[in-house]
Amino acid sequence: MGVTEIVDTEPMRGATAGEGARPAGVRPMNHPEDLMKDPNNTRDVGPRVGTPLWLYLVSTTVAGCVLLGASVFWLGLDRLQTFAGEPLVWVLLGMVIAGELRPIAAQSADGDNGNPTSLPFSFALVIYFGLPVAGLVQALATVVAGGVRGHAPHRTAFNIAQYTLSFGVADAIIQFAYPRSAETAWVPQGWGLLLVALAGAAYFITNLTLVECAVAMHERAPLHKVLMKNIGQRLFVAGVLLSLAPLVVVAMAHSVWLVPLFFFPLAALYSSASLSVKREHQANHDELTGLANRKLLILRTQEALGEAQVHRGRVGLLLLDLDRFKEVNDTLGHPTGDRLLQTVAHRLTHSVRPGDLVARLGGDEFAVLLPQVRDAVSAREVATRLRVALAEPMRLDGMDFDLEASVGIALYPNHAPDFELLLQRADVAMYVAKERRTGVELYAPHKDRNSTARLSLFSELRRALIENELEMFYQPVVSLTDHRAVALEALVRWRHRHRGILPPEEFVPLVEQSYLMRSFTHEVIEQTLPQIARWWDEGIRLPVSVNLSARELLDPTLPEIVAAGLRRHGVRPGSLRLEISERVMVSDAEAITPTILALADLGVSLALDDFGTGYFTLARLNGLPVEEVKVDESFVRRISDTSDGRVIVGSAVDLMSTLGLRAVAEGVESDSDAESVRALGCYAAQGQYFTPPLDVAATTRWLYEHGGLAEQPSERTGSAG
Ligand code: C2E
Ligand code: MG
Ligand code: MG
Repeated sequence: MGVTEIVDTEPMRGATAGEGARPAGVRPMNHPEDLMKDPNNTRDVGPRVGTPLWLYLVSTTVAGCVLLGASVFWLGLDRLQTFAGEPLVWVLLGMVIAGELRPIAAQSADGDNGNPTSLPFSFALVIYFGLPVAGLVQALATVVAGGVRGHAPHRTAFNIAQYTLSFGVADAIIQFAYPRSAETAWVPQGWGLLLVALAGAAYFITNLTLVECAVAMHERAPLHKVLMKNIGQRLFVAGVLLSLAPLVVVAMAHSVWLVPLFFFPLAALYSSASLSVKREHQANHDELTGLANRKLLILRTQEALGEAQVHRGRVGLLLLDLDRFKEVNDTLGHPTGDRLLQTVAHRLTHSVRPGDLVARLGGDEFAVLLPQVRDAVSAREVATRLRVALAEPMRLDGMDFDLEASVGIALYPNHAPDFELLLQRADVAMYVAKERRTGVELYAPHKDRNSTARLSLFSELRRALIENELEMFYQPVVSLTDHRAVALEALVRWRHRHRGILPPEEFVPLVEQSYLMRSFTHEVIEQTLPQIARWWDEGIRLPVSVNLSARELLDPTLPEIVAAGLRRHGVRPGSLRLEISERVMVSDAEAITPTILALADLGVSLALDDFGTGYFTLARLNGLPVEEVKVDESFVRRISDTSDGRVIVGSAVDLMSTLGLRAVAEGVESDSDAESVRALGCYAAQGQYFTPPLDVAATTRWLYEHGGLAEQPSERTGSAG
């Protein structure tokens, strides 16, 4: 409903921009009264009628307004008119309004509290004239500032009441020790200053309690905890502001025109305080979405775990991952991807309760902390609500996006004792949710240790794809007649954070069994094609082959993915060669034939890989447009092993040339290997003997050093087909 409408029509602002449609975690740090603004709603909507919070707010508002009315009544109309004629009162009103618009935030991570810079002036009025005038001026200023800042009327009314009650307590203390009438202006001196300090303390405590009671109810957090949050910093700021009040009083007594001079020290105080709050905010929040970052999530989770330990409560950690976000990002560009993430962030924050924390862990991964959750059923409800909020199509750049997400849930104390393990378990649960396409999964300890290891490798792999840890290496294919490079084969590697460079057999099989296949193919294509283009521009114009697994070939959208990649990077189809393993031809020939034909139609060339590993006979190629056969390394080994082997391989290569296929030998490790495969009729070869697969820079170097650049056609972009 409303939530999503707001999202799609209202652009989100940056994390440090002003108020508006920002996630709860980045509410601007304003007034103590900010809680009147339900963080679960961008609109200024109060709590539901009849709830304890509602009752509290209503009764406080009524009490404050009654007190204000009574004190003004006690002042009387005559005296009110006299005050209205005083320029001093108007100057102070101006200062209070200005101060109301510039609150000094407390340094809290989610910024719910602040002191208005109007405090020195309004409190000076309490000291000088007493509650009625101070209350009235403050009420007027609150109405004006509330109007400017777009606060709802009920919120403004609460603010007025809160000030009146706090000033009332302070005034009562002064009146008790120093009874005075409304006409007599009081300039405290000597012991009077102590009285002012006492009144200031009373103001601070009353105001804090009034506000934090509501915050505690709102966030369902214990009152003492809310009260003590950032107490030192709050005390400091309030102390500084309140201590200015007697100075303002002295200025007031001396000359009304001295009062505006206080603007400057306050402006300096304001700007330095805002700067430090901004810095703290940046350190704890994600710049793009304004959501809490991992650091803040860890902190909050630890707090919640401590709390839950004491009260035997339960904490929930939800891990949410968008399905196929990387594709959106890579195909539509990062600006669109960024906006999508901001929209997601917005929807998520608007789907959780106050007190819950939504964080972005990086990429398209989000976490939600539920500091108090009844049971697994409630946690599931939240997870479902999050998914529903995301399921509403999003409109970006005139296009509709259907976003799906998978959520994994882990609970304290059921599944893990600390943050790290909770996150890991939630991650495993999320993987299960993706695998089974169930959307939401609660962590279930696996009996089988292997599957847990696999799951964790899997989740690492998922992260590797997001964080671009996969890298293409290239192995030159060398002509056996003149030793010039005739082609390159792209071979994927995983630069693992801890385990170093991992070869494909450690992870490609896992990729094949999972939903990550498409992202993986996408990654391979998106790394290889731009590289072909770069080499081409440098004058290295060799065809580059890319390996395709069975699962990739079974994806009917593969030809379109390849075609789009070629177009996007301006690569002529002839520069791309696709390798299809013989094993795939044995097991899935029929199913993949249409894909192979469609790929050939694009103009890319096809090669049969790993020839000799299965029971494939070339006759089964059956007219498929394959141009090249790569003789597997194990087959090559047989040449030198036995004379039989030599005959078998020799006749296979003969058959290839009869069928018009080029034969390339793999795994050539020595001079004699090279010589025998050449003698058997292979036109080119690759292997350690020439060079192992190399990273991009080393490949380029190798090609230059070995002067093996074959001549190729000169234009890069050719037409498909
Ligand atoms: P492949 O396509 O047959 O690749 C040739 C393999 O032989 C490569 O293993 C290469 O490093 C290795 N090799 C190179 N020189 C020698 C040598 O002198 N002796 C021996 N014994 N081997 C040599 P790598 O890079 O570990 O790749 C293994 C397989 O993983 C590839 O076999 C290919 O089927 C698959 N693969 C690699 N990259 C990708 C990819 O991006 N996508 C997919 N789907 N599969 C890939
Ligand atoms: Mg290959
Ligand atoms: Mg091979």
